[in-house]
Amino acid sequence: ATPTAVMVGTGRAAELGILISNGEALEQARRLTAVVLDKTGTITQGKPALTDVTVVDGWTSDELLRLVAAAETGSEHPVAQAIVTAARDRGLTLPPVDSFDSIPGHGLLATVDGHRLRVGNAALMERASVDVSHLGAAALARAEQGGTPMYVAVDERAAGLVTVADTIKAESPEAIAQLMALGLQVWMITGDNAATAHAVARQVGIDNVLADVLPADKAAKVADLQAQGHVVAMSGDGVNDAAALAQADLGIAVGTGADVAIAASDITLVGGDLRSIVSAIALSRRTVSVMR
Ligand code: ADP
Ligand code: MG
Repeated sequence: ATPTAVMVGTGRAAELGILISNGEALEQARRLTAVVLDKTGTITQGKPALTDVTVVDGWTSDELLRLVAAAETGSEHPVAQAIVTAARDRGLTLPPVDSFDSIPGHGLLATVDGHRLRVGNAALMERASVDVSHLGAAALARAEQGGTPMYVAVDERAAGLVTVADTIKAESPEAIAQLMALGLQVWMITGDNAATAHAVARQVGIDNVLADVLPADKAAKVADLQAQGHVVAMSGDGVNDAAALAQADLGIAVGTGADVAIAASDITLVGGDLRSIVSAIALSRRTVSVMR
């Protein structure tokens, strides 16, 4: 692109709420064949809320929630905030936390009120050899509604499930349909489990799902698509997404997200509206064709 054309394109983009930090971005946008969208905070609002607490015999929902919420005060994950807020809303007093370890992509391990607590996905329970098979059907039912169920083990025994759910951004289905209408292959990527991921994907019209992806593996998934010959845009908002945003041919940060995600990207969507990606691609096609 000539400098003048890039400037014209960049100025028009800014009017559309798209900040371009790399002069090559518009040229790359024109060549795209695939778009990878992070689920939480990109397709959804990224503000989950607690929807359900399921307990096994011997527990009440409030007793379990106060232990889990106490442990989650040490976590920076969006699900943690949902759980802590729900416990406070129920008027629960949270016991002190004696130790806390975050297990990225899986959950947490904590000592609360003298109990060893594990909260997280099925893989976390498997690693600790906690049998959660009797909670599997309940977990699947929650996941098929699009919720994220997290197993709770107290002293290495399954005690229940806490489920959070996030709301899809109203404009996501339309934006995704428009990306597909531009001929792009659209993927959802998430650390969440496959059942939840597929339920959310179905609600927004996405067929291609990468689920259970560990934070460290997101960039490799983008590289896999590139190795298949795709020119890939990746859009995400989290600290977890930074490496994948940098790996992509075009990194698109959602403006409401983490600073490191924005720094790793070529484009930032100021308002977080996914339809701006469509505008950016349309603009790049126009800008580049004007110069040819
Ligand atoms: P995502 O950003 O897509 O949620 P993560 O890799 O951060 O992906 O998390 C993957 C999964 O690990 C979550 O869906 C959840 O089941 C579990 N998890 C992560 N952090 C926590 C936490 N603080 N408490 C409970 N579960 C967690
Ligand atoms: Mg995320």
